[in-house]
Amino acid sequence: MAIRQVREIGDDILRKQSKPVTKMTLRTRILINDMLDTMYEEEGVGLAAPQVGILKQIVVVDIGDGPFVLINPEIIESSGEQTGDEGCLSVPGKVGTVTRPNYVRVRCLNEDMEEIEIEGEELLARALCHEIDHLKGIMYVDKVEGGLREVVYDEDTMEEYEEEV
Ligand code: ZN
Repeated sequence: MAIRQVREIGDDILRKQSKPVTKMTLRTRILINDMLDTMYEEEGVGLAAPQVGILKQIVVVDIGDGPFVLINPEIIESSGEQTGDEGCLSVPGKVGTVTRPNYVRVRCLNEDMEEIEIEGEELLARALCHEIDHLKGIMYVDKVEGGLREVVYDEDTMEEYEEEV
């Protein structure tokens, strides 16, 4: 188990196009395991390889129902619309409102390099869109409506609340 350092906004690597994975190697398996460990440690619902400084088309997502590993993912169908708050481990302490499709179907490879399809609605669709954007150098801050808001903690209650910034 290894936690990798999460790159933050302003780091050029987050703006680069990731490359497809052509074969599964030990190095890539270790990367995937480290990405899962890092996502859970940082309490995120998803993580893309460029966020840990690797320009490979790999994302991991877990909205609470167990992990998905997606290699070379491509959105092949989307429908509907949802507008809600989004955050990113590479943009710590901030949230913003983003409109995404309410449903997506994604074609990708699994860890055994077999082609699979994953469907998601609501939060899963949002997480899949957000993470797949990272592979193209796109961040949610590019799509945010009405600016970013700061998430702060009330030290007395430890409850999260938001402030306009
Ligand atoms: Zn993100």
